Amino acid sequence: MARIVQKYGGTSVSNADRIRNVAQRVLSTRSKGNDVVVVVSAMGDTTDHLIALAHQICKNPDEREMDLLLSTGELVSSALLAMALRNIGQEAVSLSGLQAGIKTEARFGRARITSIDPKRIIKELDKGRVVIVAGFQGFTDELDVTTLGRGGSDTTAVALSASLEAARCERFTDVEGVYTADPRIVPEARKLKDISYDEMLELASYGAKVMHPRAVELGGVYNVPIFVASSFNSAPGTLIHGDALMEPGNKLRGIAHDSDMAKVTVLGVPDRPGVAAALFEPMCAAQIRMDTIVQNTSTSGVTDLTFTVAQGDLHKAIQKVEPAIKELGAKGWTSDEKLAKISIVGSAMKKTPGYAARAFQTLYEVGVNIEMLTTSEIRITAIIDKTRVVDATRALHKAFGLDSLDKDQG
Ligand code: ASP
Ligand code: MG
Repeated sequence: MARIVQKYGGTSVSNADRIRNVAQRVLSTRSKGNDVVVVVSAMGDTTDHLIALAHQICKNPDEREMDLLLSTGELVSSALLAMALRNIGQEAVSLSGLQAGIKTEARFGRARITSIDPKRIIKELDKGRVVIVAGFQGFTDELDVTTLGRGGSDTTAVALSASLEAARCERFTDVEGVYTADPRIVPEARKLKDISYDEMLELASYGAKVMHPRAVELGGVYNVPIFVASSFNSAPGTLIHGDALMEPGNKLRGIAHDSDMAKVTVLGVPDRPGVAAALFEPMCAAQIRMDTIVQNTSTSGVTDLTFTVAQGDLHKAIQKVEPAIKELGAKGWTSDEKLAKISIVGSAMKKTPGYAARAFQTLYEVGVNIEMLTTSEIRITAIIDKTRVVDATRALHKAFGLDSLDKDQG
């Protein structure tokens, strides 16, 4: 008898029929003799609706109240799933994050889990019950309810899997697994049988929406195998784990894109120690994420500095750097909102040279201009014009042989 954690996303529990469907799937796993803990997201777009509602009440809702409000979405789906399971003869109990012992930092809106005390969960499992845990939430030392940031139920599921030493974490949504590229823009995209934590983390952090990056990171740290599949059919999914095989022919694993980028260039910055710190410190304090920073070599003591942020953060980022620009005596700034980033990922890059050259040549052949570049050991990211994302992704997918991956392998 294995202990299994299953997680169902918002689309999978978006109405009564779907909740009943999930109950059947949970029952069938339970009937095979497994202990099952289920983590659920809020139904459909509930979280978005709750956020909109709060903003109808006031412009700047209090953070603590916001978290309490948002946590209710997952409570609703948990209780309904417990009812659906009882209705088909399976003992089940739903638990809030607090009841499940999920402790977090006291940081509303994006708290990190600090510890889990699974006592109550284990007690319920021992009674033969399926335990349903409301995703995306925890509690502080003061017993205030916190949330883990958008998409945080994935993190709940992986953290619980680690704490319960589950055999694996099964994550079900409306997509069948991890693909070599977004199938909506690359019809030839293939589903991967497996992928390593490192590769998945790069893909997820650079725009692949399939899995929350924090959850992948936790999976890697605690070595929790994560199986990603659809809750709507029984097609084979993708296993994210530690020892994914090196792909045949040193192929790439996948291409991620993110069309929600903006860049800011600070012009005429004096080239002396402390300048970057002065510019970026206020943005870090405001928790604005920058993922590419490029500084040109200086000529006659001044330089330009460019960084990228999510489009939604552009306004705030400019507000935060403007005072520093004035103070440093820099010339000013320009911005561009119509950017995207495209990333190729594969651990084969570590051992084989030539990926960058092939990628640049491919982009050149389709006439895509590279505005900025950033890399890791297993990733190359180009910042390009937003309107060229589809062409660039398709061309790279083909150039690196991903179109022709055999369906089974892929
Ligand atoms: N309901 C939350 C959200 O929509 C958390 C989640 O779905 O994982 O972001
Ligand atoms: Mg959701």
